[in-house]
Amino acid sequence: MHLMNNYGRLPVAFSHGDGVWLWDTDGKQYLDAITGIAVTGVGHAHPRLVRAISEQAGRLIHASNLYRIPEQERLADRLAAISGMDRVFFCNSGCEANEAAIKIARLHGHQKGIDQPVIVVMEKSFHGRTMATLSATGNRKVQAGFEPLLAGFARVPYDDRATIAHVAETNKNVVAVLVEPVQGEGGVNVPDDGYLAFLRELCDAHGWLLMLDEVQSGMGRTGKWFAHQWCGIEADVMTLAKGLGNGFPIGACLARGSAAEAFTPGKHGSTFGGNPLACVAAQTTLDIIDEEGLIENASRMGQLIRDGLADSLRGLGAVREIRGKGLMIGIELDRPCGEIVRNGLDAGILVNVTADTVVRMLPPLVIRQPEATRLVEQVSELIHAFVRTNEPVPAAG
Ligand SMILES: *Cc1c(COP(=O)(O)O)cnc(C)c1O
Repeated sequence: MHLMNNYGRLPVAFSHGDGVWLWDTDGKQYLDAITGIAVTGVGHAHPRLVRAISEQAGRLIHASNLYRIPEQERLADRLAAISGMDRVFFCNSGCEANEAAIKIARLHGHQKGIDQPVIVVMEKSFHGRTMATLSATGNRKVQAGFEPLLAGFARVPYDDRATIAHVAETNKNVVAVLVEPVQGEGGVNVPDDGYLAFLRELCDAHGWLLMLDEVQSGMGRTGKWFAHQWCGIEADVMTLAKGLGNGFPIGACLARGSAAEAFTPGKHGSTFGGNPLACVAAQTTLDIIDEEGLIENASRMGQLIRDGLADSLRGLGAVREIRGKGLMIGIELDRPCGEIVRNGLDAGILVNVTADTVVRMLPPLVIRQPEATRLVEQVSELIHAFVRTNEPVPAAG
C-alpha cells in the first residue's frame, strides 16, 4: 500500500452509481445520503452530465488561462446572474477558492493603507487544509502540528454578536469577515435568523468585506442557490466548490463591487482553474439543477426528512437537536456516535458523523419522496439501535 496515511477510510469501495444509489465492488447497493460530502447534488451518472463531459472531452479538455476560454466566460455570466456578484475567479477546490478570498481581503486592506490586515473568522468553522485556510479554520485538530499558522486572523464565536462588535470597536486592522452561512463540518450549525444581516451591517459600518464560504451550503443544497439568499443579504465575496461540478473538480471565488476589481493581471492564477472541461461540467450541473426544479425539491425534501426524523425520534432522550436547512441536515446526540457510520454501511445507507456527536446527512438534490422516506426510516432505526446499545456514561458522584 503506497498511499499516504492521511485518511481514516471505511473498508468499502464503490464501482458505480445511478442517481441516489451507489453499488460497491461486491454488488451491494447503498442509499447515498452523503453525496461525497455535498458534491454529487444531481446524483450519480446523470445522463445529461455524462454526455456533456464526454462530448467536451472529445473537443478540448484544456487550453490555458494564457488565452480566452469561452466556456469559462459563459459560466461566469451564469454564476453572476444567479448570485448578483460581478466577477468570478475559477480554481479547482474549496480551499483554493478561500485562498483567493483571503488574498482579495488582504489586497483590500493594503489599498486602505492597512499593512497588517486581519480577517475575522469563526469558532467551529472549516475552510480547508492549505496553510492559509487551515489557519482560518476554527478546529484545533485541523491545525495541530502545522504551526506556525498564518497570521492575520481574529477568531470569534459563531452566531454571537457581542464579541465581533467588540472586535469592531477595538481592532482597527480588520478588513473582512469570513463565515459559513451554515457551518458544515462544525456540526450543521444554523445561525439565528438575523445573524448574517447583522454581519452585513457591521461590515458596511466598518468598510469590511463580508466573505461567505458557501463551498458546502451553496449550489441549491439549502433550498436556495446560495444559503445567504434566505436572509436577503448580498456578500462582497463568496466561495464555491463541492456541488459546483457534481464531482468534476472546480471551485470559484465570486466578488462584487470594489472586491471584484482587486485582482489585476499577475496577482493570482491557476493552471487548471476554469478549463473548458470543468466549466462545461459546472454549466451542465447548473442547467440540470435549474431545469429539473432541484432547488425547490431540496427545500421540500429537506423539510420532509427533518419532520420525519422529528416524528420517528420523538421521546428519544439521547437526541439533543434535529437541525439544518434544505438538504443539509444534522442530528445532534448527547454522546460521540462515530460508529453509526459503520452501522449505516452494514444497513446500506451512507451517512457521516461530524463534530463527534452530529449525524450528518447531505442527500442528493434529486432525492424524491420514496427515497426520502426510506432515509428517515433507516437513519432513525440506526439511531434507535445505537442508543439502545450505548448507554451514556453516568456522571461521577
Ligand atoms: C469542504 C469545504 C472546504 C474545503 O474544500 P476542499 O475542496 O476540500 O478544499 C471549504 N469550506 C467549506 C465550508 C467546506 O465544507
